[in-house]
Amino acid sequence: MQRRTGWPASQPGVDLAGLARRVVALGIAVGAPIIAGTWYREGPQDPWVHWGYPPLGAVLLVFAWILLRRQEWAIRAALAILVLLEALWVVIALGRIAQAPDAATAWALLLPTPLLGVVVCLIVGFLFQSTRTALVHGTVYAALITAVIATALGQRPGGAFYVWQSLRYGVYLGVFLVLLLVLSRAKEHVTSAVADAARADATASRMRDMAYLDELTGIANRRRLLEELGHQAGLVSPSHPVCVVYFDLDHFKQVNDTFGHDLGDQVLRVVAEVAARTVRDGDVLARLGGEEFVLVTPATDHHQAVQLAERLRQALPQELTVAVGVRVTASFGVTELQHDESATSVLRRVDELMYRAKADGRDRVQSAGPAGPW
Ligand code: GH3
Ligand code: MG
Ligand code: MG
Repeated sequence: MQRRTGWPASQPGVDLAGLARRVVALGIAVGAPIIAGTWYREGPQDPWVHWGYPPLGAVLLVFAWILLRRQEWAIRAALAILVLLEALWVVIALGRIAQAPDAATAWALLLPTPLLGVVVCLIVGFLFQSTRTALVHGTVYAALITAVIATALGQRPGGAFYVWQSLRYGVYLGVFLVLLLVLSRAKEHVTSAVADAARADATASRMRDMAYLDELTGIANRRRLLEELGHQAGLVSPSHPVCVVYFDLDHFKQVNDTFGHDLGDQVLRVVAEVAARTVRDGDVLARLGGEEFVLVTPATDHHQAVQLAERLRQALPQELTVAVGVRVTASFGVTELQHDESATSVLRRVDELMYRAKADGRDRVQSAGPAGPW
């Protein structure tokens, strides 16, 4: 089960956790110099700033370090710091009200920093909590601080008017929470839309694989091979020769009959692996069906293609002996693709060459250019 951390869950293609981290990091980068500046400017006259801001700055720096070095602690640390900041604003608000001679001065002292601090806490809450948790948390906190301020101001001389002022402030906080809720919901919709798109993309790519890959071996299938041959036939030129290597395992029926179909399948998989290792980037290796494989090798002349087939002919029995304990050989046909030649035509020609290799005793390479044996 997914752990409900509150930090936006990572979805395919969306790094919301990373985004939230960047936003918080940006907030710290902007907030830390402001805290330092305020402390330098107002600290000498204001004991709340003088004693309150250095620990606040230290907490933010520790959090910045956590974001950089210990991301696995980030959620818990962010929550702890948020609650700490919320408590700090309550204490500062109460302290300022208590130190002021009357309610009007107290209200002026609350503006702008402590009241703005509450707004920042609400925003930060929505950054790394789920929408519902952030809403409940924000509502409780907004109601609490409004009630605390209103009660404390009410007890100061001239406080009645400022009780209403603080209740008005509470209403603003409520409206602000609704705005955050709308934005957060919109963000969730975007996230889920992006995740849907990523999932659709993954499904499409799976379907492409199903359409073009051979299920047993994972290499290209007949459909992919025919497309590649059609494509390469249009590109063939004297300066861009393309060869086709066709090979068929020798006496494969006997392998199945003697060792079982499962081992036969294993042989086919190993053949595909060995052949895939032998070819170059850009070559296409396909399983045409049964125990018949085809290699299309662009930018390869006839001589190089024969060498490639020879290498593979020698490697296959050795590698199969090591991998499955059965020595299986293969017979090869090699030919050059002609410009605009159809797939059927080149496959027929190379198939005939392969059968000639079978007829000549198997485990060999037969090659010919388009016009006949070379
Ligand atoms: P040859 O040297 O003349 O090619 O003899 P062969 O026995 O290899 O040729 P044949 O065409 O008579 O037999 C091919 C065998 O390949 C028949 C079938 O049992 C086996 N075969 C085809 N597809 C698969 C497969 O997906 N898995 C397994 N295990 N065997 C398969
Ligand atoms: Mg065979
Ligand atoms: Mg066959």
